[in-house]
Amino acid sequence: VGGHPKGGNSSIRPEGVASILAVASGKGGVGKSTVASNLAVALARKGRRVGLLDADIHGPSQPRMMGVSARPVSVDGQSMEPLVAHGVSMMSIGLMLDPASAVVWRGPMLMGALQQMMTQVTWGTLDVLIVDLPPGTGDVQLTLCQRARPDGAIVVSTPQDVALLDARKALDMFRTLETPVLGLIENMSVFHCPDCGHEAHIFGHGGVRDEAERLGLPLLAALPIDLETRLAGDAGVPVAGGGGVMAKAYGALAQRLIG
Ligand code: ADP
Repeated sequence: VGGHPKGGNSSIRPEGVASILAVASGKGGVGKSTVASNLAVALARKGRRVGLLDADIHGPSQPRMMGVSARPVSVDGQSMEPLVAHGVSMMSIGLMLDPASAVVWRGPMLMGALQQMMTQVTWGTLDVLIVDLPPGTGDVQLTLCQRARPDGAIVVSTPQDVALLDARKALDMFRTLETPVLGLIENMSVFHCPDCGHEAHIFGHGGVRDEAERLGLPLLAALPIDLETRLAGDAGVPVAGGGGVMAKAYGALAQRLIG
């Protein structure tokens, strides 16, 4: 993995993939990967053929969140089979690296890794390939937008001002790169106290909703701070695969995107 990307600006869009959906955020830790994995599982539950590509090269968390630890296998020494978990085909840079090693890569190596995960993984026929991007606006985002031409992007943010500030930069980037933004997701929107039912707005209130309104973009979901979501993510069994309120919320989000 790594190395210099071949082919300059040629397409890295996998052939059998009908649509590519980028999941992005300005800041790290806002729940981008959590949303990406749960949305993937929710779409798979609706009968869609879904792939999940973890391109969060500096902090790949999909192997953990999807409960996958096997190394990808190559049948011919060239291509790699995606791993299947919870009905989703997935590949992560984290599966190809020593999980304990920190990755310090230069731009061209990052782009090479993305290119390999797009073009050398046998994704097969997919309705949608969800790409979990690194936070921010760097080389990986640029390469994906220019060379894979995603059909849409979703930006995840918490309502906190610092997160929103960075989310705006991500939105600007997509506008510049002509990637259509399908909408925003406000994550960690509210906390419902399980004991007294009180609602606490830990990261502020309505910030993403206001931003979406300002930009004329849909607010696709407002997801609460939820213990089950966090536990399920850590356990590798996304909450969207279960039968609780969050599974319903992710089901509704998936339905909204399917239209
Ligand atoms: P990012 O991809 O933006 O860095 P993650 O999806 O890795 O963020 O989430 C960061 C942490 O917050 C993880 O431990 C995750 O389980 C937790 N988390 C994300 N969304 C929620 C939520 N709605 N409720 C509770 N915990 C959450």
